Amino acid sequence: LVAFLLFLFLMVMPLGSAFGAASSVASALGALGRITEVLDLPAETATDAADQRLEPTRVQAPAVEFEGVSFSYRGADGERVDVLHDVSFTVPRGTRTALVGPSGAGKSTMLALLERFYDVDGGAVRVGGVDVKRLPRDVLRSQFGYVEQDAPALAGTIRDNLRLAAPLATDDDVLRALDAVNLRATVLKHPEGLDAEVGEEGVLLSGGERQRLAIARALLADAPILLLDESTSNLDGRNEQLLRDSLAAASEGRTTIVIAHRLSTVVDADQIVVVDGGRAVAAGRHEELLTTSPLYRELAATQLLV
Ligand code: ADP
Ligand code: MG
Repeated sequence: LVAFLLFLFLMVMPLGSAFGAASSVASALGALGRITEVLDLPAETATDAADQRLEPTRVQAPAVEFEGVSFSYRGADGERVDVLHDVSFTVPRGTRTALVGPSGAGKSTMLALLERFYDVDGGAVRVGGVDVKRLPRDVLRSQFGYVEQDAPALAGTIRDNLRLAAPLATDDDVLRALDAVNLRATVLKHPEGLDAEVGEEGVLLSGGERQRLAIARALLADAPILLLDESTSNLDGRNEQLLRDSLAAASEGRTTIVIAHRLSTVVDADQIVVVDGGRAVAAGRHEELLTTSPLYRELAATQLLV
């Protein structure tokens, strides 16, 4: 049990986050607090786990594993819609994996299974070596920062928007996160700064800027695994570069899985998994896949914008 707790603790400890150690430890302890709550253990266990973290033994399990996963949605009429078939891939800790493939291939479904919005029909999804079915849902979901495809404009101030997932964040933390996604100047240009409302009356954000704001929010939440469903909308060169820089900043020291629609996102990914018709049909790096996967070559030729 202690080993299990130690694992959970290591899972919530980000690897060298851009944000001060203090806030990382605070959020890790916060998450650990939730774990002990769920498992109903005495508080000392948390301290033991924190002490053991300094020992050279580190949990070596990959951050994420899909092993022989199959999955069907159940329609309203009870009809099964087969979506994933025997999907296997592994995401080592601290690396970036891109999922690419035609629309409807099953990429978003994979992220949904990871956060356990649905249960697999066959095979297993593991986070840090543990089957997601064995983890309490709040513990599981605290592992993920999720940046959705078309981040909506949220009502409220810039500060409210950013502290949503990190209520304890200070203004300094918020400004650092805005810095990381290159939005600090945009926000501070407004006389009300962090108190400015998001929207036409205050700080008006473009689609690309809204996605960067969502990345800043995920950064503040400081979860060890970042899930990003990249927007398909076209960005101009400068905004594309800013989004790329933001993703790089957010990936720093974190495990990242991105559903990619841009060539610029995949070329420097540690691993690209090509998904087609609910199967992981190829995996590798960009140069490798250009020679081994005809589908990847085709996607790359059309800039992956499918
Ligand atoms: P991708 O993200 O690669 O475009 P999705 O994972 O969104 O693909 O969808 C895979 C398949 O599952 C598609 O055929 C889609 O129509 C179907 N699907 C997605 N969500 C649902 C759902 N909630 N209920 C039933 N079918 C769904
Ligand atoms: Mg999708």
